[in-house]
Amino acid sequence: MELNNLKIQQNYKKILEDIEKYSPYPEKVKILFVSKYFNVEEHKALIEMGYDYFGENRAQLYRDKLNEFSGEKYKNIKWDFIGRLQKNKIKYIINSVNLIHSIDSYELLEEINKKAIENNRIINGLIEINVSKEESKTGVYIEDFKKNSEKYFSMSNVKIIGFMTMAPFEASEAEINSYFSNMRDLKEEYQKKYDYITTLSMGMSNDYVEALKNGTTIIRIGSKLFK
Ligand SMILES: *Cc1c(COP(=O)(O)O)cnc(C)c1O
Repeated sequence: MELNNLKIQQNYKKILEDIEKYSPYPEKVKILFVSKYFNVEEHKALIEMGYDYFGENRAQLYRDKLNEFSGEKYKNIKWDFIGRLQKNKIKYIINSVNLIHSIDSYELLEEINKKAIENNRIINGLIEINVSKEESKTGVYIEDFKKNSEKYFSMSNVKIIGFMTMAPFEASEAEINSYFSNMRDLKEEYQKKYDYITTLSMGMSNDYVEALKNGTTIIRIGSKLFK
């Protein structure tokens, strides 16, 4: 892929402006640079440009990239995991991940906790919510989460600091708004019980403005940055 430094800078700046314009608390919002579109060389160039907060969605590629970015020069780079995580691949991310966005079942949470204990790590995680109940999407339904929510907060080595979701790609603006506002309500409800709940990961290139209006704190942006 042709990396156009100036274009990325301009797009990044536009998104920062949108954060100021649409978010109720712009100071709390972070842009996660979704780097799955880039190979190692391109990724190195992005780091040279000054970007330092990335999200990957494939555990094996995550591991392979991290191997290339070890050492002093890269020690301040933060890596989040945002994709579907198979239990047998938790080991690829457990020692370096900053935040796992995509904990889409209680069983996966238990398994991450087990690996976190083995590796002597405390992991920050988000519960992925299937807010639209689309069959093609993974994640916990809001009402199922609420029925049994205590168990998600009972892990010794995984701290659940919020929620993540993906809106359906073909949804209307009104539908997206209603999904995102359900997520905001969920976060606010649980924030009252657990004061360490701070995070809502929602909004991608095509719907981040709606997410900002509904109080997201991490927007996961890929294509919008380089197109
Ligand atoms: C790819 C991806 C994104 C970014 O998508 P864009 O539409 O390119 O911004 C965000 N979240 C997840 C989970 C992804 O897999």
